[in-house]
Amino acid sequence: MVMCKTVSPAGWEAFDWPAAQLIKIAHDGLRGHDLGAFVKRASGSEHVFLPLLDNVKFASGEVPLHVIGLGAWEAYGFNRNGDGFKEAACKAYHDTFVKHGHWYRNHKNKDPKKSYGVIKASAYNDRMRRVELLIGLNGTKEAAERNGGLVADEELEKLASGSDIPVSMACVVDHDVCSCCNNRARTRDEYCTGEKCAAGGCRDNLTRLYKQAGDIHHLGVFNPHPRWFDMSKVWRQADRICLGNRADWMKSASDDGFLGVGGARTADELGVTAPAVLLRSVMPEVGDVGVLSQVKLAHAMAALPADCFHPKLRLAFGSAVQPDVDLAFLGLDGHAKTASALAALADNKIVLSVRDFARMTKRAELAADAAGALRGVYARMIDDGSLESRVRRNPYDPAEKTASAAQRIAALRLSPGHSLDAASVDNRVTLSLVRGKEGSDWNSTIPNEKRAHDNREVEELARDYAVYKLAALTRIARFDAHFPLTVKLAACQNESI
Ligand SMILES: [Zn+2]
Repeated sequence: MVMCKTVSPAGWEAFDWPAAQLIKIAHDGLRGHDLGAFVKRASGSEHVFLPLLDNVKFASGEVPLHVIGLGAWEAYGFNRNGDGFKEAACKAYHDTFVKHGHWYRNHKNKDPKKSYGVIKASAYNDRMRRVELLIGLNGTKEAAERNGGLVADEELEKLASGSDIPVSMACVVDHDVCSCCNNRARTRDEYCTGEKCAAGGCRDNLTRLYKQAGDIHHLGVFNPHPRWFDMSKVWRQADRICLGNRADWMKSASDDGFLGVGGARTADELGVTAPAVLLRSVMPEVGDVGVLSQVKLAHAMAALPADCFHPKLRLAFGSAVQPDVDLAFLGLDGHAKTASALAALADNKIVLSVRDFARMTKRAELAADAAGALRGVYARMIDDGSLESRVRRNPYDPAEKTASAAQRIAALRLSPGHSLDAASVDNRVTLSLVRGKEGSDWNSTIPNEKRAHDNREVEELARDYAVYKLAALTRIARFDAHFPLTVKLAACQNESI
């Protein structure tokens, strides 16, 4: 019994290169400029393929194509279908592409006479932890005849016009293994169910998230013995979803129903969706809409449950992946241009960390304690009735300011390292995990709330920062289609040092 599976490189969000790309190889080999372009595209591939290229001959009429196939589970996780290929399996079986595979179209792979190219070489790229392939497309009638197939006219047309070729691969497996309960299944009928599998079973819950020993996992299946036989051009790449499987920490912040505090639902209940618009319609004649939005937002943030985000999200705000903001570069070291610089930051979804805010306001020595005082800061201001007046006299409100071109450029450059944009946050978590920061930054730094806010100066800094954050978020709400998620990430930023 075997299962046949199709796998698209687009199923791994982390692949940001076009899966298939032409390589120019002169008849005497890959040299000079062409070599440089290939090396640039295929980080690490030069090492895996260059030695092979001496032996891999592209006959006349064959068009060389470099394809990034699949990523090792250890680095890229399960793909969107819930299939995982461990590094060992990638290493052991990539050459089955060469042994059994051809280049087909749309997985019509029964007859090699209807293939459009041959798979010349395969390799496991240790640095990028993925399987890569060199394809020889049948570029001419002669090449097609020699390879016993057809001319790859559509592929060549696409490549000539500079378009990507969407690809998909197929393999057979004799069994796969549940990532939660280790159930071995030879067919989908043998998939585990909720009876035995703590994750609810692969039959109905493949790709879903589950919690085990306090950590969040994706339910997937490992494919220990994949035999690859088909690399196909397909009509179109399966659409990339904005948050891939890899980003389980992000999913926990944005999915509805997960951990019982879904993003969209919570946002609706708390009324944080587009606060300015909402408040304008609910309270049209009452006071300053900007202030009311911020007050309402503060109530929402005070009510956010502590577990509304995955603990790993905190890694995105650790000093390991967030170097200090260069305040002088932004014009934040004086007083005159503060608001416009903060506006430029907000327009890039950047809310300064309490560390940077403390430096900006010349209170750097209080930063660590103030970070500890952020937990519950909105509730304390609501309780003692000071919230609204603080929002009104907030000196760090970027609301109506326009930034200079230099400030806008400076803010844009800070975006990857500091933005609350989901993709940037996700990248920083990954970066932090890759650097081995897991377990240190976010386990040990739960701040000592009590001690910290007993100190007046510390509490003052925490409150200044908290209302700055409200104002910045309110500016972000004007353009942010994922504002509830952004609010949660901003709350998470408060919990991170
Ligand atoms: Zn299972």
